[in-house]
Amino acid sequence: MSKIPVGILGATGMVGQMYVHLLSDHPWFEAAYAAASPRSAGKPYREAVAGRWHAPGGWGGAGELIVEDANDLSKALDARRRGRCAFVFSALEMGKEETRRLEEAYAGAGIPVVSNASAHRWTADVPMLIAEVNPHHADIIPAQRKNRGWDTGFIAVKPNCSLQSYLTPLWALMEAGYEIKRLTVTTMQAVSGAGYPGVPSWDMIDNLVPYIEGEEEKSEREPLKILGAIKEGVFVNAPGPVISAHCNRVPVTNGHTACVSLEFGAKKPSIEEAKRIWAEFRALPQERGFPMAPPQPIILREEPDRPQPRKDRDAGKAMAVTLGRIRPCSVLDLRFTGLSHNTVRGAAGGGILNAELLTHKGYLG
Ligand code: NAP
Repeated sequence: MSKIPVGILGATGMVGQMYVHLLSDHPWFEAAYAAASPRSAGKPYREAVAGRWHAPGGWGGAGELIVEDANDLSKALDARRRGRCAFVFSALEMGKEETRRLEEAYAGAGIPVVSNASAHRWTADVPMLIAEVNPHHADIIPAQRKNRGWDTGFIAVKPNCSLQSYLTPLWALMEAGYEIKRLTVTTMQAVSGAGYPGVPSWDMIDNLVPYIEGEEEKSEREPLKILGAIKEGVFVNAPGPVISAHCNRVPVTNGHTACVSLEFGAKKPSIEEAKRIWAEFRALPQERGFPMAPPQPIILREEPDRPQPRKDRDAGKAMAVTLGRIRPCSVLDLRFTGLSHNTVRGAAGGGILNAELLTHKGYLG
């Protein structure tokens, strides 16, 4: 099978670099178009990222791509005509309104957008996908196209990176028949989550910052859309669980950690039953063998001091959630610590897995 040529908007940033790196040996997709701000436009990719390359390994064949201005849609349309841009991954960091307009312009011109940006997460007909949790939400795409008069284009997004460390484990318990009524989550989020150069070193060394703008609202609200239903061509949020979030920035390079305490409905699993559900959890990406899918989406650690970012963030191709410290909670029912890689599972790897899901469903390629 020849590879599908894809574009990356924001290709020079922290997430864009991870896309370029992960796509350098992807069996279905190849990075064939790169775009960023006017500051990078016109430069070969390797020159545009010189001195600020933070992804592991290299950029494969993308080094010689000439970076285009992401605001200039005509360049992407020209690349599409030349068979170089079947769809785009959006990893733009710009104003929310500007991002919303730009992503709509690409989709309206026929170029599907698989986005990491938050601009469209609350748009009523845009799916917010975690491939293991709500793959069926992709099936709103025909209604989205109809609502907007789009033919081949559409927008699909992934949620905030802080959710990835705990929402899949919560979903595994819910799918096994356990209602979760409410939970508290305290996240300890890596500096790479703020992009590059991100938080000043003076604020991070020998310190932590107990505030990330907008993050607690995202952590509390986005799960309700992901767990929600499609009704008459739009999403209706799930009524619960009620979530209380504390989000902290900590001096870790990669890997978001989340400490969760949760309360079940009337039916409560034992600790051993919860562990069994998590260890055995598999979903569509595993069943279909999607290239970016971790073979085991939830990995359990029994050691009392795990998971740890440096030791566990790369588990399962950096796409797995590692859980540990699973024990009874003296206030609610059960508590655990979850960890996932924020720029892979929480950003570029999660975006690629969503594109694999959308390809499998026939919406891409
Ligand atoms: P970043 O390192 O700051 O990179 C931003 C990218 O956007 C760069 O390629 C930059 O191009 C481009 N850009 C900035 N202003 C632009 C403009 N006016 N026009 C066109 N392009 C412009 O940010 P990031 O951490 O990669 O985040 C990218 C997106 O992913 C954001 O929406 C973020 O919220 C989301 N996200 C990030 C993470 C994470 O862990 N970092 C996780 C999930 C989601 P230049 O290099 O030319 O300036």
